[in-house]
Amino acid sequence: MTHEEISVAVHAEQKAHREAQRTLMAEYDRGYYARLKELRVACEAIGHKWRFTHLGPLNDPWFACGICRATKVEIDSEGKP
Ligand SMILES: [Zn+2]
Repeated sequence: MTHEEISVAVHAEQKAHREAQRTLMAEYDRGYYARLKELRVACEAIGHKWRFTHLGPLNDPWFACGICRATKVEIDSEGKP
């Protein structure tokens, strides 16, 4: 094989690898996100365990549930000073 042929073949292999990853992960993710949603609904039913994580870009406090990893932001409804 020449350098040109190897380069073209490597590029084709990497492209096929990326496409396979996209296809396989898309199929997996359909079930994954549905299962996560079910678990988060179950956690919400018995009460999330919210913990402050950080301030967002607009200085709003963000929280994550320590059990199911759901996140939420609490926006100050009275506006910022
Ligand atoms: Zn939770």
